[in-house]
Amino acid sequence: MIKLSQPRISEEVIQRVSEVLRSGNLVHGQECIDFEQELADFIGVKQALVVSSGTAALHVTLLSLGIGAGDAVLVPDFTFPATANVVEITGAKAVMVDVDPYTYNMDPKLLKETISNWRYSEKLKAIMPVLEFGNPANISEYKKIAKEHGLFLIEDAACAIGAKWDGQHIGTFGEIGCFSFHPRKTLTTGEGGLITTNDDALAKKASLLRNHGMFRTKGAVSFETIGLNYRLTNFQAAIGRGSLRDLSDWLNVRRNLAALYYSLLSKGTFVEKIQLPNFSDGHSWQSFMIVLDDKQKRHDVISHLKENGIETNLGAQSMSQLGLYDHVENRKNTFSVSAKLYKSGLVLPLHENMSEDDVKKVVFFLGLAIGAQC
Ligand SMILES: *Cc1c(COP(=O)(O)O)cnc(C)c1O
Repeated sequence: MIKLSQPRISEEVIQRVSEVLRSGNLVHGQECIDFEQELADFIGVKQALVVSSGTAALHVTLLSLGIGAGDAVLVPDFTFPATANVVEITGAKAVMVDVDPYTYNMDPKLLKETISNWRYSEKLKAIMPVLEFGNPANISEYKKIAKEHGLFLIEDAACAIGAKWDGQHIGTFGEIGCFSFHPRKTLTTGEGGLITTNDDALAKKASLLRNHGMFRTKGAVSFETIGLNYRLTNFQAAIGRGSLRDLSDWLNVRRNLAALYYSLLSKGTFVEKIQLPNFSDGHSWQSFMIVLDDKQKRHDVISHLKENGIETNLGAQSMSQLGLYDHVENRKNTFSVSAKLYKSGLVLPLHENMSEDDVKKVVFFLGLAIGAQC
């Protein structure tokens, strides 16, 4: 089976995890602190805080920025629900913005319109774009819009570790960047997440919130705020540290395989049957999602590919279609692009354990399934 993704945990990493387990120092400690330093160096950011999931990273971020009841946060309509859920969990409202049909990221023009037309009682506090599947597109525009309107920029970079825009890492453009280390993402610790920021005061708040509001000085413990337990464990950090060493190589493999998909799928009759994603240099290719035309039944395509040993799936959800965020602010729009991506998006296998022949095999059977060829 060519899987959608397949985490690679080396024997060396398993060895290191065993050592941590034998040491008895299991919860957040030196292994996490070292992992944080290595992540900060890799991304080029002052502060990196590891947490228990990408969702925890987003939740802590919103709380650190003081976002809650009476506030509203702009999120893309096309994403994994965690993006909108965390906003709602704080008591704030998640306000959807439709996405661009090719980058799958929040459409900057619609974002500006939503801000300019804001007439609701909630106070707009932040823009929380998703760098969908690792695509860095539009990040500098989001930053500009946030600045113009005095809004926080929170990067939901859950899928975007290693993605860059203009040579600068995603996760360093806004006040805070949030990453996920779920096995479906490029760098995994089983479950896990990361907060990045250049703002020391924000980092201090986030660090308190992830650990019961607890502050430790030599021998003494004080509780400085109301907090949570969103810590990563040392053995998870050991998995992450081992994999971080290989991450640049993995990103290269992904970029090469994505380029191969792109060149094969932009030939022959494929052009009439599918739409390809926008291709940009700094894309980290957590997923390669194409869009089927309206005549194709995605379910049948997925089954056909599965019979031939290829795993595919839908890409992300349309928030407005889920019916969970039915605010007046979300009712006036149609979110037609996001609805189409939700209905017809198809993610093809892409990971560092794949070969060029695997990509060719996927393209061949996809062609059979939809009646197209290079
Ligand atoms: C995966 C993902 C999350 C959630 O991350 P977890 O580590 O699974 O909690 C949030 N936002 C986006 C865009 C994601 O893809």
